[in-house]
Amino acid sequence: MPELPEVEVSRRGVAPHLENQEISHVIVRDHRLRWPVSAELEQLGGAHISQVERRAKYLILHTSKGYVIVHLGMSGALRVVPAETPPVKHDHVDLVLTSGFCLRFNDPRRFGCWLYSKEHPSLAHPLLCELGPEPLTDVFDADYLFAASRGRQQSIKTFIMDNHVVVGVGNIYANESLFKAGIHPKRAAGKVSKQRYQKLVPIIKATLAKAIEQGGTTLQDFTQVDGQPGYFKQELMVYGRGGKLCMACSGRLKEIRLGQRSTVYCPSCQR
Ligand SMILES: [Zn+2]
Repeated sequence: MPELPEVEVSRRGVAPHLENQEISHVIVRDHRLRWPVSAELEQLGGAHISQVERRAKYLILHTSKGYVIVHLGMSGALRVVPAETPPVKHDHVDLVLTSGFCLRFNDPRRFGCWLYSKEHPSLAHPLLCELGPEPLTDVFDADYLFAASRGRQQSIKTFIMDNHVVVGVGNIYANESLFKAGIHPKRAAGKVSKQRYQKLVPIIKATLAKAIEQGGTTLQDFTQVDGQPGYFKQELMVYGRGGKLCMACSGRLKEIRLGQRSTVYCPSCQR
């Protein structure tokens, strides 16, 4: 599943081809995505695209006729191709530009979305207006996270993965960050000290920033027909390593389910 770093790398890949371009028309081959593709998108001919923004795992296209909200879901991918390129299976949406190129959306599992919002979706759209801060901004700091956690009985791992608390800390990043910070994933969020949040927050930021950077260096040419945005090979210390040896203490890593998500930790390094 594309996580925040993959979405940010997708944004960086497609933005130069979209910004300051004009939409010719929109082709919807299959409306049946996670939610039906907004009919308004087919009225966007002649609109000017000023910006491609990312908020959480949503891409927001700012156009002179409103906003397009794109989510990659479980298996979505965006490419910029010459508009006459024949579509292949699962190519559900084309945003055709007057430049002769199009932004093409392929999504085999159809959990992605293409929605329209007249107002900026961060203010007006139910999917976006209640999201917590972006993890890589200054608003997300130890003071904020500590204050937000007071009185919370839920586990620290579930807490940092809650999009109302902070967006974009997916399961892999939560596992890795808690290991690096030495915090037991089941510890109650409200019982984690300020000092430990001061350690955890920079680790979360660094983990996500590193993934974006790795994605950037392996960034495929988004204008190639077969240019799949990469899902980054991470150097993972705990995720996917349940039962293997801890890289820090050589003890055995434990794997449990927490909030229905695979959770791997070191019982000696994480308290
Ligand atoms: Zn260990």
